Amino acid sequence: PVRVRFAPSPTGMLHLGGLRTALFNYLLARRYGGSFILRIEDTDQKRIVPGATENIVRALEWAGLSIDEGPGKNGPAGTYFQSQRGDIYRKYAHSLLERGAAYRCFCDAHRLEMLRTQANTQGKPPMYDRHCMHLSQRQIDEKLRSGEPFTIRMLAPNPADPASTDVAKFSDIVHGSMHFRGPAGFDDAVLLKSDGLPTYHLANVVDDHLMGITHVLRGEEWLMSTPKHRALFKALGWAPPQYAHLPLLMNSDGSKLSKRNHNGPLQNYIDEGYLPSALVNYTALLGWHPDVSQEVFTLKELEDVFTLGGLSRSKSFVSRERLNWLNRQHLRGEISDPSTIPRVAEQSLSILQRIPELAKVEISKRTVEQALRLCSDRLLFAGDLYNTAPFLFVDPDLSSDVGIQTLHRVPEDKRKPILNAANKAIRSKVRLRTDNSESAGSRQDDQWVGFAKEVASIAGVSAKQTMLMLRFALTGQPNGPKIPELLSFLPVEVVVRRLLRAVE
Ligand code: GLU
Repeated sequence: PVRVRFAPSPTGMLHLGGLRTALFNYLLARRYGGSFILRIEDTDQKRIVPGATENIVRALEWAGLSIDEGPGKNGPAGTYFQSQRGDIYRKYAHSLLERGAAYRCFCDAHRLEMLRTQANTQGKPPMYDRHCMHLSQRQIDEKLRSGEPFTIRMLAPNPADPASTDVAKFSDIVHGSMHFRGPAGFDDAVLLKSDGLPTYHLANVVDDHLMGITHVLRGEEWLMSTPKHRALFKALGWAPPQYAHLPLLMNSDGSKLSKRNHNGPLQNYIDEGYLPSALVNYTALLGWHPDVSQEVFTLKELEDVFTLGGLSRSKSFVSRERLNWLNRQHLRGEISDPSTIPRVAEQSLSILQRIPELAKVEISKRTVEQALRLCSDRLLFAGDLYNTAPFLFVDPDLSSDVGIQTLHRVPEDKRKPILNAANKAIRSKVRLRTDNSESAGSRQDDQWVGFAKEVASIAGVSAKQTMLMLRFALTGQPNGPKIPELLSFLPVEVVVRRLLRAVE
């Protein structure tokens, strides 16, 4: 069975690239009925940012990526915090020593720094010179007795040695066949630090094995580490997983998307009001394409169509335009779906309640749902309701520039007759309704169809001018929801008030 993991280091808040890695792993697990594991790689205590783990867990929840094993969801391979698995890593580091696949290194920081500077000036990648590999057993024992601190380094295979071809050559799901010829990718990396804590390479490989990981989907920046990881798997006698290294995310100007960039942190998107479903849809299309010519996907739909074959090798560019387009599609979809509109309305209402102009206006969730339906074609965010259609909540400002422009499109001598005719028509409609013993507050969407025509004939004016005048009075704008829908949304007394107000 497929077992995949998202293995972030809690060194900061989740960003778009991290969400994408998590998403692809999640989708692979769901597509093949496998398990999606969250593993926290927190062995480098110095780099840990307080709250980062909680942020990552919450962000995955927000996006709807449920985990099968991980923090708060223990499974057979737990604990899922690497900081709590120190004994396990020490055991395997020593097993590598015994197998001759690793050695103790007593070099101090000063000497290592010197090696780095030397490599730098020669323009070479920094590689350890294997000084301590040549220590005799007597020298080692002496150093151990005198308590000299040491690290454990892997004895990296020589990529030119035919015996290590299986380590140097492998097939990456995204990049195809890879052949690392070294020396980069084959340095004797530190596995266990002098404080007994593992480095990324050791902990990562040990856990991928113990957690039964079948596929490693991770960012391209880890491609260079893969020969080392494969060498460790081999030295420990384990079968390596399959690898898929995902291409980098880029800004539209070609620069690398970083955590510092505004387009990086996931929280920025949440704060701006993007829907989880839209952001997930957008993220899925960064480096993956479906077999079908469809662009709008729910998470569930993605789970059904995701394949590794759709992963792309080329860099992906972020695009707000595309994200915004997708958010509009998802928002419209969620508004038209009775099972999702309550959540959208809640989000919208909480934003409306913070708008100073609406401090004294009482707004029910039902009203918000209706307002959302009226405006669904024009909203980018659920929270845009007031900016898009303030007249749904407060009387319009008739003296605004657009208001005046709208008014001026109706000949002056026609304005009052239209409004008076509208008032008359409304009065007879309301009377009719009470006669039919319908509750005065009942709103029927079709009862206002033909209203504008009726008014036009009473006033002896064209339907077009009538509509424009009604629009001016009711909304202060030339465009907006259809007149019948607007009339059924607004309480009759509000309609009457606005018509009278516009006569003045
Ligand atoms: N802890 C690494 C990271 O933060 C994980 C890399 C991997 O998936 O192997 O990206």
